[in-house]
Amino acid sequence: MRLRVQRDLLRHDGARTMTEEDEMRDWAEAYAKEQGWVLNPDKKVLDTVIRGLVRNRKKFGEQYCPCRLRSGDKEKDTEIICPCIWHRDEIAGDGHCHCRLYYRKDAAEKEAGEEE
Ligand code: SF4
Repeated sequence: MRLRVQRDLLRHDGARTMTEEDEMRDWAEAYAKEQGWVLNPDKKVLDTVIRGLVRNRKKFGEQYCPCRLRSGDKEKDTEIICPCIWHRDEIAGDGHCHCRLYYRKDAAEKEAGEEE
C-alpha cells in the first residue's frame, strides 16, 4: 500500500523523479516566465505556497489559493483558483501576489538584496 502511494506520488521525467510539488513548481515557474515575473526567491516561503496549492488540489480538486478562504460556493471559488483574479493588480501594485508566490523582478531583487 505504502509503495503504491509512493509510486502514485512520483512521476518520472527523464532522469528526474517528479513529485506533485515539483510539477506545481514547474507550472508556476513557466507561468511566471511567460508573464515576465519570477517566483519568490525565498525558498522556504515558496515551498510552503507550493505545498498548499498541491494540498488544495488533492483535497478539493482545484488548486485553490492557500492564502485565501474558500467560500464553499464552487462558482464563486473559481476566483481563488491559482492564478487568482487579483494577482495581476497585486503584482503591479505591491510587487508580489497576496501569497508571495509571484513577484515582479524588481521587487524580488529588492527583497533578495535586503536579506543579504
Ligand atoms: S495570491 Fe498568488 S498564490 Fe494565491 S492564488 Fe493568487 S496568484 Fe496564486
